[in-house]
Amino acid sequence: MADRSFLDWPFFEDRHRDLAQGLDAWAAENLQGIDHGDTDAACRTLVAMLGRDGWLNHSTVDPDAPDARLDVRSLCLIRETLARHDGLADFAFAMQGLGTGAISLFGTHEQKCEWLALTRAGKALSAFALSEPKSGSDVANIELAARREGETYVLDGEKTWISNGGIADIYTVFARTGEGPAAKGISTFLVPANTPGLGIAERLEVVAPHPLARLAFEGCRVPASAMIGKPGEGFRIAMSVLDVFRPTVAAAALGFARRALDESIERARTRELFGAPLFDLQMVQGHLADMALDVDAAALLVYRAAWLKDSGALRISREAAMAKLFATDRAQSVIDKAVQIHGGDGVRKGHIVERLYREIRALRIYEGASEVQKVIIARQTLANAS
Ligand SMILES: Cc1cc2nc3c(=O)[nH]c(=O)nc-3n(C[C@H](O)[C@H](O)[C@H](O)COP(=O)(O)OP(=O)(O)OC[C@H]3O[C@@H](n4cnc5c(N)ncnc54)[C@H](O)[C@@H]3O)c2cc1C
Repeated sequence: MADRSFLDWPFFEDRHRDLAQGLDAWAAENLQGIDHGDTDAACRTLVAMLGRDGWLNHSTVDPDAPDARLDVRSLCLIRETLARHDGLADFAFAMQGLGTGAISLFGTHEQKCEWLALTRAGKALSAFALSEPKSGSDVANIELAARREGETYVLDGEKTWISNGGIADIYTVFARTGEGPAAKGISTFLVPANTPGLGIAERLEVVAPHPLARLAFEGCRVPASAMIGKPGEGFRIAMSVLDVFRPTVAAAALGFARRALDESIERARTRELFGAPLFDLQMVQGHLADMALDVDAAALLVYRAAWLKDSGALRISREAAMAKLFATDRAQSVIDKAVQIHGGDGVRKGHIVERLYREIRALRIYEGASEVQKVIIARQTLANAS
């Protein structure tokens, strides 16, 4: 049984505690029998289930409530809980939020009504298409071009590493419209998957299977009304979306780490070594203490960032970067210790800690590599000091 004492922390309201407990029970009941053999099919199934049972209502704003805001604490609690049960379920939930984040934060009422009702119900899958072959970390220099022609824009270029690429119904695409140099000349577009000129150039495979693709845009024409926000606002939109979703990546890492700790406690209790439980060995106790400390410290950073955003902070770049950097890095260490405590079983294909070992790695790379988070923290710390 995972430690739930953190739910008593003052970052949360009773509705958060109810949400976490309700989802935990739902996940225990519903996520056991999902076949992960076909990753695309598993993701579609998970999105449909999460939509059917109302969990995706937390992934976007409510299109019928004009003043609605994303609740970052709920997003984090959901990601932490799902990641603890099933990494692909967390991925499926996360992408419904990240893929529509620009609509939630900057979309028109029409854009919200057209797409959010579908993604919240689990009837449409969404994707966030920012990275390009030459611009992963260097996002201000993306090259995919959007050329205005009358009442339309024509998109030409490539995106890569796009989660849900190949199975998404709607892509949020960041493209160069040229109002200014670098970050000042980017705009955001909604591109339905069936738009002529949008193709899947390549499906990508990674250590922990997720749907991923490189996308090709060749004369891909969308109406001018497909733009989210104003021309030239794309970089600001992308950063605002990442500001909200970076703490949630940290929350997913926290969920993986908590699962690794739970599995390790169980193993240390039940495995007999030298005539006594593994737990009696003081070096194993030392590992477990380090793991518990990392988990709690990561949780404090995650829920501080989320609480700050929910309390009305306009930007939380420093706090979100600290949460992501620390939680993903320490989760890697916690999971590595879990593998060690499990001995040979820890590296056996299909064992839960072996899966966690593969799941955690990409989180230190996407939505801003760890080094990028350090740059953000250093710059903001300097700015705060002056
Ligand atoms: C599993 C997975 C899912 C992804 N999903 C999406 C998605 O849905 N949408 C999307 O748009 N993108 C997605 N990405 C892309 C991801 O955001 C990029 O991979 C990431 O931004 C790094 O870009 P890159 O791979 O081009 O590496 P590069 O930009 O070439 O960076 C390589 C390395 O250089 C170092 N580095 C980078 N910047 C700095 C710096 N300022 N200072 C010091 N060192 C630095 C880091 O160690 C970094 O890992 C995904 C990637 C993965 C692996």
